[in-house]
Amino acid sequence: MATKIIYFTVNGRPEQAEFPVDCPAQDVKDLFRSAAEAGPHDILKLYNPKGNIINISPGLEPNSPNSCYKLEVVAADRNSEPLGTFTSAPWESYCLDLFQNCQQSPSSLVISGAELAGALGFDLSSMEKRLQGLEKKILMEAGETPAVVYEMKKQVDSFREKLESVEHLSWLGLFKDLSEGNLKPSPFYLKRTLRKTREECEHVREKFLQMSSLEVSEEVRQYLKTPTFDNWQWEDAEIMVLLQVMYTDLDFIATFNIEPEVLQQFLFEVYRRYNNIPFHNFKHCFCVTQMMYGLIWLTDLRSKLDAIDLLIMLTSAVCHDLDHTGYNNAYQINARTELALRYNDISPLENHHCAVAFELLEKTENNIFRNLPMDQYKQIREGIIKCILATDMTRHNDILIKFKSILPAFDFTNKDHKDVLMMILIKVSDISNEARPMEVAEPWLDCLLQEFYNQSDVEKLEGLPVTPFMDRDKVTKPSSQTGFIRFVLLPLFIELANLFPCLEQHIIDPVRKALDYYTEMEKALEREKQNRAQSENAAKIKDTTVVTQSTAESHVEVGPEAHTPQTVVGDT
Ligand code: 5GP
Ligand code: MN
Repeated sequence: MATKIIYFTVNGRPEQAEFPVDCPAQDVKDLFRSAAEAGPHDILKLYNPKGNIINISPGLEPNSPNSCYKLEVVAADRNSEPLGTFTSAPWESYCLDLFQNCQQSPSSLVISGAELAGALGFDLSSMEKRLQGLEKKILMEAGETPAVVYEMKKQVDSFREKLESVEHLSWLGLFKDLSEGNLKPSPFYLKRTLRKTREECEHVREKFLQMSSLEVSEEVRQYLKTPTFDNWQWEDAEIMVLLQVMYTDLDFIATFNIEPEVLQQFLFEVYRRYNNIPFHNFKHCFCVTQMMYGLIWLTDLRSKLDAIDLLIMLTSAVCHDLDHTGYNNAYQINARTELALRYNDISPLENHHCAVAFELLEKTENNIFRNLPMDQYKQIREGIIKCILATDMTRHNDILIKFKSILPAFDFTNKDHKDVLMMILIKVSDISNEARPMEVAEPWLDCLLQEFYNQSDVEKLEGLPVTPFMDRDKVTKPSSQTGFIRFVLLPLFIELANLFPCLEQHIIDPVRKALDYYTEMEKALEREKQNRAQSENAAKIKDTTVVTQSTAESHVEVGPEAHTPQTVVGDT
């Protein structure tokens, strides 16, 4: 049967489609839809080399690779993402709503949102031009600006306001380039999206593969075993090399017959599936894994547990936050996200992280366990699931109570005891930033709060219950840390140090120092607040005196708050 071959590009990627000349129109459309990885409700446009839109139909003019057509998804339905890729982040849908509002408006638009729309893949400037043309035409034909245009201009203003009100979402890097003048961002910065792009990944992968054959010095290998390790000094490709070193130096490569290329491919896939978010990103994955690695060495766990248990623990740490999108379980449940629906509100995130891990491992080229017998694979799978699910902080107390109860007669050969210890170790590693030197830990707190504040902002925008410890109006750096250290970190770390007293100096001492530091900061902030309140009061008293005098002269009503300072004056 005669077929047609159509050459086209989608997102700059060359593709070709082949279909029978008498193929039904819908099939041709679906073919292009799948090439663009578009959902059933997304809008696709095909352009010929002249830039004209052409119909996606069986009648398409066959072309050659030199006269490629261009396929674009010009609008994406945010509800149409397949289950496997997880729902769009709320900020994406919010921006899309704003954009759609904007589409209904004419434009003499010169708004900072043009770049936002651009970052989201919309060509706002060409739309602007078309709308300006329309506005001009109306003016010429009607002789004056019609009321409807004024109305639309008002909508544009309100759109601009809305955009400004979401500038806090700049943590995704969408606005950053606008304010930084000549500062040259990384070539991938402008394109930063929640999920890593192919170019971004390829760039890092190349670097990693180039570096992975380099020998890491003994000094770095030793440093890597300590909780004082400074992650901020290392870029992502280097971090992947360091992870490789951990697998090597724990003898996993030899013991579990892991091919170096498979380990590299696995680590690359892990890197790829951590998102561009402030806290739960690839560097967090590294820090948690590195702390786990440090704990294994500091406590000489190699002499107490089986190698397979250590492999489970290290790999669980590597995978424990895969594909985190920056919104916690409470948000997932309240916003009824796809994850909450899929996992029936039961640890939606942790279930997802774990499922993504095993999805990666399903591919034989990534599967670092592929040379192991089935029973070992099963044991590893069971162990990793247990460890990752244990990182849900709503289970914190239960796990800690269980650990405390077995501590007096702890037995490293008892499977139940071992399981609880492994859960405790990943939990300790997961929340161990404050056990690091202050200059390493403090930037992590900034990242965490950035992610927290973003979530609570979105909760406010979406009318969802606001998670109190994330509310930028209520939480400060010290207030966030003092409670967390006192009531969560120390009680947990102290129990682990009961089993391994040598950890006291490595993880408890720095946490106590951090507690002092943030307690001092909290006091200083409190003093500052009091001082500010006092000077504001003083200013009000001054103002009130003036207002009261002028009121007496002009008989203007003064609100009750304006009188309050007078009472203060009376009291002092
Ligand atoms: P993760 O989400 O990383 O798996 O689980 C750890 C959770 O513990 C974080 O999401 C966060 O809520 C909390 N957490 C971890 N480290 C800190 C910290 O230094 N300060 C505060 N306030 N919370 C933390
Ligand atoms: Mn984590």
